[in-house]
Amino acid sequence: MLKNQKAVVVFSGGQDSTTCLFWAKEQFAEVEVVTFNYGQRHSAEIEVATQIAQELGVEQTILDMSLLNQLAPNALTRSDIDITHEEGELPSTFVDGRNLLFLSFASIMAKQKGARHIITGVCETDFSGYPDCRDIFVKSLNVTLNLSMDHQFVIHTPLMWLDKAQTWEMADQLGAFDYVREKTLTCYNGIVGSGCGECPACKLRQAGLDRYLAEREQSNDSTEGARR
Ligand SMILES: [Zn+2]
Repeated sequence: MLKNQKAVVVFSGGQDSTTCLFWAKEQFAEVEVVTFNYGQRHSAEIEVATQIAQELGVEQTILDMSLLNQLAPNALTRSDIDITHEEGELPSTFVDGRNLLFLSFASIMAKQKGARHIITGVCETDFSGYPDCRDIFVKSLNVTLNLSMDHQFVIHTPLMWLDKAQTWEMADQLGAFDYVREKTLTCYNGIVGSGCGECPACKLRQAGLDRYLAEREQSNDSTEGARR
């Protein structure tokens, strides 16, 4: 079973990857994380990821991916590019092939460390239009990685079919709701927890949280109703 095996989580310190880390810690005997440094707009992102890894007692490897910014200047790394997301267009935070590269590098590292399992928080449900976050892409890459390194990797995507409210529910079921809510960084302005409240990432996170809290309230009410 998976319980006695080792896994590597692609980890940014955000809501999704932190939820994945809690998930992985339940599923696997040994868990490590890999964090990519590509000159993020806010160095806070790396610091937050490192702090969470320490608090949760997992070994962290930080890989320098600054070449990504050299290849594709974008709003995630450049403060002179505004974060925008027009309907029907890719957001300005998009970097071609980013997830392809992250998963490939994570896999090379995982093999070195004797791990087969890679966990990533990519998600097709709140699909922002990133083609390399789609389930079909991840499955295809899994085959390619296995062939390229003659290794039996398994890429796990526990959030693939969840919406943002369901991701909060999953954190809650893992006993990590407060931790994820208070300690993770999603905000494009580098503010931990509920963030600036203004940027697209904060709005998406808050909308999912509001929806989940409303659903939880409702199910608590109906449980109490049944008890009466
Ligand atoms: Zn924000």
